[in-house]
Amino acid sequence: MLTFKILSIFPKYFVSPFMDGLLKQAIEKGSIVIDVIDIRDFSNDKHRTVDDTPYGGGAGMVMKPEPIVSAIQHAKADEKDYAVIVFSPKGRKFDQGTAKRYSKHTRFILVCGRYEGMDERVPEFYADEELSIGDYVLSGGEAAALVFIESIARLMPGYMGNKESVVDESYENNLLEYPQYTKPRVFEGHEVPGVLLSGNHKEIQRWRLEQSVKITAMRRPDLLTAAKKDKHVLSIIEAIDKGNEEGK
Ligand code: SAM
Repeated sequence: MLTFKILSIFPKYFVSPFMDGLLKQAIEKGSIVIDVIDIRDFSNDKHRTVDDTPYGGGAGMVMKPEPIVSAIQHAKADEKDYAVIVFSPKGRKFDQGTAKRYSKHTRFILVCGRYEGMDERVPEFYADEELSIGDYVLSGGEAAALVFIESIARLMPGYMGNKESVVDESYENNLLEYPQYTKPRVFEGHEVPGVLLSGNHKEIQRWRLEQSVKITAMRRPDLLTAAKKDKHVLSIIEAIDKGNEEGK
C-alpha cells in the first residue's frame, strides 16, 4: 500500500485527478491512500496567512516556515516512516531512476510550494529531498506532486494490469520506447510497418529494439552511453553503425 500526504494551500486542486483511471481504481481498492492537507489550517493567525515578505527585499512573497513545518509534523503524527519531498525548480531533476529509488518507499509527504517558494529552512531541515520535475517554472508544486504520485504508482506491483507494460516502457534500459501501432492497418494511406504483421516474434522484437535505439540516438543521445552497458543493445547499435558505414 502507498500513502501520499500532500501539503498544499490549494487542496481543491486535487479533487479531480484521483477520480479517473488507474489511480481511482487503486484508491478504491485501498492500495493507494491520498490525504490532502491544507497548509493554511496550520497558520496561527485568523487570516490563515502562510506567506510573508522576503528578508533582504525583492519581488513577491515567501511561504513562512511555521505552517508548513506544523503541517509536516501533523502528517507524521502516526510516527510511521515518511519520505518528505519538497517540490522546487531548483531541486534535483526527477527522472525514472529517481522514481525507482522512491518506489522502495511506501509513505510520502509531498510539500507543494506557491508564491516565490518557501523559506529555505523547510527543505534544509525538514525534508529528505528537493525535487524538480523539469527545467521550467510552474506557479505551484501541485502539478509536480501529481507527476511524482503517478510515476511511483506505476511502479507499484499490481498497479498496472499488464506487468510487461512497465518492463517495455521508455527509460527502461535507458531507451525510449519503440513506435506503437494499432488498427487500421492502413490509415489515410499510411501503412503499419510490415514486420509487425509478420507474426515472427523474434523479428518483431529485434525491429522494436532497433527502433528504440534509433529513436534514443536521435532524440536522447545522452541516454545511449548507459544503454550500451546492455550487451544486446550494444550489438544492435554496432549493427546499425555497420549498416550506416556500408551505406556510405
Ligand atoms: N522563485 C522560485 C525560483 O525561481 O526557483 C520559483 C517559485 S515557483 C513560482 C512556486 C512553487 O512552484 C515552488 O515553490 C515549487 O513548489 C513549484 N514549482 C515550480 N516549478 C517547479 C518545478 N519545475 N518542479 C517542481 N516544483 C516546481
